[in-house]
Amino acid sequence: MPEPRPIAVVGAGIVGAACARALQRDGRRVLLIDRDPPGKGCSYGNAGHIAIDHIRPLSRPDVLLRVPRMLADPLGPLAIRWRHLPQLWPWLARFALAARPGRVKAATSALASLLESAVEDWRAEAAASGARDLFRWQGALVVYETARAFRDAEAERQIQCRHGVVVKTLTGEEARDMAPGLTGAVQAATFYPQAAHVVDPHRLVTALVDAFARDGGTVERAHVRGFAAASGDALSLMTDHGPVEVEAAVIAAGLGSKDLVREAGLSAPMAAERGYHLMLDATEARFDVPVSSAERGFVLTPMATGLRLAGTVELADPSSPPFWARAELLEGHARALFPGLGGSAGARWVGSRPTLPDYLPAIGRVPGRRNLFMAFGHQHLGLTLAATTGRLVADLVADRPAPLDLRPFAPDRFTRGRRPARVCAG
Ligand SMILES: Cc1cc2nc3c(=O)[nH]c(=O)nc-3n(C[C@H](O)[C@H](O)[C@H](O)COP(=O)(O)OP(=O)(O)OC[C@H]3O[C@@H](n4cnc5c(N)ncnc54)[C@H](O)[C@@H]3O)c2cc1C
Repeated sequence: MPEPRPIAVVGAGIVGAACARALQRDGRRVLLIDRDPPGKGCSYGNAGHIAIDHIRPLSRPDVLLRVPRMLADPLGPLAIRWRHLPQLWPWLARFALAARPGRVKAATSALASLLESAVEDWRAEAAASGARDLFRWQGALVVYETARAFRDAEAERQIQCRHGVVVKTLTGEEARDMAPGLTGAVQAATFYPQAAHVVDPHRLVTALVDAFARDGGTVERAHVRGFAAASGDALSLMTDHGPVEVEAAVIAAGLGSKDLVREAGLSAPMAAERGYHLMLDATEARFDVPVSSAERGFVLTPMATGLRLAGTVELADPSSPPFWARAELLEGHARALFPGLGGSAGARWVGSRPTLPDYLPAIGRVPGRRNLFMAFGHQHLGLTLAATTGRLVADLVADRPAPLDLRPFAPDRFTRGRRPARVCAG
């Protein structure tokens, strides 16, 4: 009997790697394709936070209101490269529409339903892929330097509680017990005991891809340019190495999904939300939970190779030169929060979060196309949601009923009313 055609997963970032693993466990023959070595995209340098508390989309009225103040500070937590405004404008307009209260409420429920099983899904994937040593299941801390910011976050805490997130409020003293070295300026904190972190996000991707290859999966280096109908029920991926016939394809190419989705006749108005990291060789850091600063908008994560300072949002053309001052300013913030922190700054990195204007990922089958699936647009939560997305994609491919309502994540939600997809079989 001829071997069945494989299911292709396009993109070997954390989302694609987790999709490939879940499909493989389902007994599928899987081909994982990336134009680059696995995990070199946005998944390379993130903050490593399994952020189950981030249930609210950033497209919200309170964020919109804060935008002018944030933009007035060129080194603040949010920046827009003004000369890229014409290309950003359609995304910004949809962002403002998504920030209407009814839509925020619906998006919060949708995100919360996805995040609910994130930790459990990662525990299972880490065990299956031999990656347990990369996880720390010790919670996460958000610290506040002003009583006012802590008070203002009360509404958020209540929303989190309503959606089942376990939230503990701490005094400044209690926060300093949990994160020794934290400045006396911290007034209060929130502790999320169910959160977790990864001590090497890039190694997590390669651990999954290595396990995938060990268990018989095929990894190929190719740039996918589009799709064509093939014989029978098959789909042909057009790559820079020629066509590849597959049974079905899952587009999990992060920001690169935008072009592929267009090739499939859909629209994915994705922005590159650039963020930066700076490694600090602070071996004497005496805390082992990620510490986020509410006011400064960044996170310090203890990692295998030092302390990772990560954050900031910069809306810009992803191919424009990085603005390294944004990475370097993280060091000043870290030393202000932990005044005794020694060590010196090391590697810096910039990456582009793939973000749809409503801050919900696209997870689903392309309507009317039996064999084309989407799994992209995971914004600030790609690491957190990768294992859950993989599980959902395996269900979709197998035609099993989804364990949650996937309609808010419909990949064609920005396309409705437009012509259907052009070329794919099925
Ligand atoms: C500073 C920063 C901090 C962050 N912190 C966190 C955090 O703490 N927790 C969290 O959950 N998330 C975090 N994120 C977000 C997270 O990193 C992303 O959501 C996630 O990496 C997206 O994963 P992905 O697999 O979709 O995309 P990527 O990792 O970008 O992978 C996409 C892959 O597709 C490939 N590709 C693209 N187009 C094609 C094509 N046409 N053909 C072949 N291959 C293609 C690329 O080469 C790439 O390897 C952070 C992001 C940043 C920038």
